[in-house]
Amino acid sequence: MLKSFRAALTLSVITLTALGTSSALAAPLKVVASFTVIADFAKNVGGDRVSITTIVGPDGDAHVYEPSPADAVAMAGADVVLVNGLHFEGFLQRLVDASATKAAIVTLTKDVTPIDFKPEFADADAAEGAGKTVTDPHAFQSIANARIYVKNIAEAFCAADSEGCVGYQTNAAAYTKKLDALEGEVKAAIQSIPEEKRVVITSHDAFGYFEHEYGLTFLAPQGISTDSEPSAADVAKLVNQVKQDKAAAMFIENITNPRLIEQIASETGIKVGGTLYSDALSQPEGPASTYIDMMHNNIAQIKGAILGS
Ligand SMILES: [Zn+2]
Repeated sequence: MLKSFRAALTLSVITLTALGTSSALAAPLKVVASFTVIADFAKNVGGDRVSITTIVGPDGDAHVYEPSPADAVAMAGADVVLVNGLHFEGFLQRLVDASATKAAIVTLTKDVTPIDFKPEFADADAAEGAGKTVTDPHAFQSIANARIYVKNIAEAFCAADSEGCVGYQTNAAAYTKKLDALEGEVKAAIQSIPEEKRVVITSHDAFGYFEHEYGLTFLAPQGISTDSEPSAADVAKLVNQVKQDKAAAMFIENITNPRLIEQIASETGIKVGGTLYSDALSQPEGPASTYIDMMHNNIAQIKGAILGS
């Protein structure tokens, strides 16, 4: 009786060991990504060695997201947690504390050169406080920075799963090549717009890194976060500036209420040019369900609205 139990136990250990040596059947690395852009990068680097849970889903707003009990459960069971950092995820510390997760919390903006944001319209009180600046968290809107996120993800996966490391590095290198090609397309698209027309309006300041990298100016009535409504005075100031500078186009964002942009459109006579994906990807069936598709969508919308093509 005891002997057969031992035999059965030995057999099951052998079976588990055999399964463990096959990468396809090994338990996947449990990864939590704070939002959709990071989840897409992680999928490209991790392939089928990782299973990914995304906290803030498609079209979601990470600035104001309220975590659910299910998010805390996912965090508690994670091997690796991937976050943007720079205070992009307003909920992050609360969720880390609530979940008591022991996973490595990996900040993907590590090694990114942050850019400062000077409030023009929103956060009027802060702006009056002696030109205070804050760090812009939307670093992923520069493709050069996306490459850094991907490098950091590969390093985190290698640290957590050394057996998969060669695969992660190979995947990261292949995806980085796609990002290089994408960067060329985005630069060419913006270069094709006459310089005096490279001014557009969006709801909130999500595109500072895009502006810095590619040379398109974005004006926005809300600051770098969506957590406060712009004042009537801020909106009036933007409307005036738009009338003088003649911004070439105006866009709603997938994560924000379109009401404010529609109001500015009606007051200035500038048509709403379409939807830009700012802080989240689209649903799977939408036009921006991957980072690369998001960039393709955004440059097509911007070119289409400004050049009418
Ligand atoms: Zn944002």
